[in-house]
Amino acid sequence: MAKKENRVLVTMACGDCKRRNYTTTKNRQHTSARLERKKYCRWCRRHTSHKETR
Ligand SMILES: [Zn+2]
Repeated sequence: MAKKENRVLVTMACGDCKRRNYTTTKNRQHTSARLERKKYCRWCRRHTSHKETR
């Protein structure tokens, strides 16, 4: 398949408990900086900021 490979798989980890709760893909051309999202952490049982991990 001739598909452009500019979407990369990233893992989102909770900033509080450091657990990796989500995986998502991002567009490398759009988002060169590290992603940060407010997401619900099931371990903290509230919304925390989740950051991209390597
Ligand atoms: Zn958490």
